[in-house]
Amino acid sequence: MTGRSAIGIDIGGTKVSGALVRDDGSIRHRLQRVTPHRTTSPDVVLATIVGLVRDLLVAAEQDQHGPSPGRSGTSTRPDALVSAIGIGAAGWVSSDRATVVFAPHLSWRHEPLQERLAAILELPVFVDNDANAAGWAEWRFGAGRGEPNLVMITLGTGIGGSLVVDGRIQRGRFGLAGEFGHMQVVPGGHRCACGNRGCWEQYASGRALIREARAIIDTRSPVARELSALAAAEPGGLSGPMITQAARGGDRTATELIGEIGQWLGVGLANIAAAVDPGGFVIGGGVSAAGELLLGPARESYRRCLPGRGYRDEAFISAAELGNDAGVIGAADLARSALR
Ligand SMILES: [Zn+2]
Repeated sequence: MTGRSAIGIDIGGTKVSGALVRDDGSIRHRLQRVTPHRTTSPDVVLATIVGLVRDLLVAAEQDQHGPSPGRSGTSTRPDALVSAIGIGAAGWVSSDRATVVFAPHLSWRHEPLQERLAAILELPVFVDNDANAAGWAEWRFGAGRGEPNLVMITLGTGIGGSLVVDGRIQRGRFGLAGEFGHMQVVPGGHRCACGNRGCWEQYASGRALIREARAIIDTRSPVARELSALAAAEPGGLSGPMITQAARGGDRTATELIGEIGQWLGVGLANIAAAVDPGGFVIGGGVSAAGELLLGPARESYRRCLPGRGYRDEAFISAAELGNDAGVIGAADLARSALR
């Protein structure tokens, strides 16, 4: 017999996604809203989440009892429809999973999100970092299945990370475990938004890919001709997916740029292996769409940088399997597992 579904909410920089998730990780319903801009009050973001949850509860009720035209909201108690609500937020979340301490893209500063949502929605609520949610989903249902010690790296504009040890997400004492993107890999290197220089995410992320592509376009070198033409044709300028597409089409410069990101990825993975010795790494996020063009060079440089190479077992490095759904699936399942 399967348990009740849970609701997962993924709050990103540009959109809020919600889904009704079965206990096998499959999605019954999904909905999406635009993320309120960072200048709007915390109340607006809260109202967006509440609206999404109520619409998903209506969908859950219709699954149980069929459509009920003419009525808004639900007549069934919410805890008879779903077991819990999990929130994955792009920000720092306290280790007790109650408070969003700081979210750079939202207006939350020490926001007691768990307490406020639980009072309105009358359901158990658990808040987590969005990278933890995605990592948990890949560990339970995706590319990390069966590996008790797993690291997930999300390569987007920056780098997100999460760590599962002996089947448990590691949140750290202050909720900030897994911020691998801010390990220093180049002393005195590129400036980072965290305040430091030379952070890994300045070398192995979507932002790094675009910075390097622009740098080579600026040299007006013949090798950048195709990238230059792509950038000129697009009003929004060059994007990561355009570079990936050019590489897939055989452009050598684009292939090299993605390969360099992959090499830096491998350097950071070797550092993480030295610290936590996982059995596997799962790589997700927009940049991972480059597939083997990224992961091939990452594996090579990982082997080159690994401490004790040649005398130890090596963790696998695999592409994530759940794509953009990982956030909602993981948030829902983390909330459900917190009830056990
Ligand atoms: Zn940094």
